[in-house]
Amino acid sequence: MTTIYNFSAGPAVLPKEVLQQAAAEMLDWRGSGMSVMEMSHRGAEFMSIMDAAQQDLRDLLAVPANYQILFLQGGGLGENAIVPMNLMGASPDATIDVLHTGSWSGKSLKEAQKYGKVNVVASAADNGFTAIPVRDSWRLSKDAAYVHVCTNETIDGIEFHTTPDVSLETNGAPLVADMSSHILSREVDVSRYGVIFGGAQKNIGPAGLTIAIVRDDLLGRALPYCPSAFDWKTIADNGSMYNTPPTYAIYIAGLVFQWLKRQGGVAAMEQRNIAKAKLLYDYLDSTDFYANRVVHDCRSRMNIPFYLRDESLNADFLSAAKEQGLLQLKGHKSVGGMRASIYNAMPLEGVQALVAFMQEFAHTHS
Ligand SMILES: *Cc1c(COP(=O)(O)O)cnc(C)c1O
Repeated sequence: MTTIYNFSAGPAVLPKEVLQQAAAEMLDWRGSGMSVMEMSHRGAEFMSIMDAAQQDLRDLLAVPANYQILFLQGGGLGENAIVPMNLMGASPDATIDVLHTGSWSGKSLKEAQKYGKVNVVASAADNGFTAIPVRDSWRLSKDAAYVHVCTNETIDGIEFHTTPDVSLETNGAPLVADMSSHILSREVDVSRYGVIFGGAQKNIGPAGLTIAIVRDDLLGRALPYCPSAFDWKTIADNGSMYNTPPTYAIYIAGLVFQWLKRQGGVAAMEQRNIAKAKLLYDYLDSTDFYANRVVHDCRSRMNIPFYLRDESLNADFLSAAKEQGLLQLKGHKSVGGMRASIYNAMPLEGVQALVAFMQEFAHTHS
């Protein structure tokens, strides 16, 4: 049987070991006589799963003690509303600063406009979404409620390789980062951020779980109409169990965290991710049959969009790839072309197989 490699942008590939373990534990979790799906979220069994998952995530990202790890629902797009609802209460007239680097931060800025005045710090629309606007061009507000960035633009394939520096001009406004598609793919200095959030379905686990890492002093700033189930303080005070959390998704995420620890943690994953991305970009740069348009130092390690020079070959490319077991390479509908998402669970062998296929396809269609 052909080895399958799944390049979906999300929901995305999970480590085979994790799926095998989940399969083995599906009907009877460790002698409890129950599937994890059937357990009360307040029972001792699930509480142990929850505690371990939160602690493992804290260990993996070296989350400082003055940050809460919250397990929520609502996805990345839900957070686009949940963030302003949680941060605007103390200063409802303050400006929300948003750095527009691609599709996802574009959605964030539109949603934020429902909750406050939005200042677009800079927009990559000016360069056709091929680069992060240069730092000198950013126009930050003096007294922003917070500054929103998307540190990996999943559709455009643009990634920050350093922490966005907003400290000088903003009087200490908290930096809020949507890390949905690269959380746990690289080391991050959590202390530079006020809030980090992400949906789990890109690089962590199944859809349904959203993670927010929130600095303690930012709790209790919610707008009066913020739903209680989305108020970070309420959620933190209740150990992410104010309402029923997405229990099975948390269980799978917990298995992924343990898998990451066995792989050597985030630093080791980052080295592998660098090697995987380099292999694909080096090949893309070596041929004019395919092209990636992103400026080199802004290229994402996780999501690599590319185009065939002759786009009339797109359908043939996708069906031939599928025959080789290389799945879900179609680009996002808004930008077309192809996209290879190579998250933590994608082994180097998968990228090697992709490059070999692309070479062969280019050879037979030139
Ligand atoms: C996928 C994605 C989202 C949207 O997530 P949903 O769970 O569908 O709401 C938001 N931001 C980024 C960066 C993403 O990659």
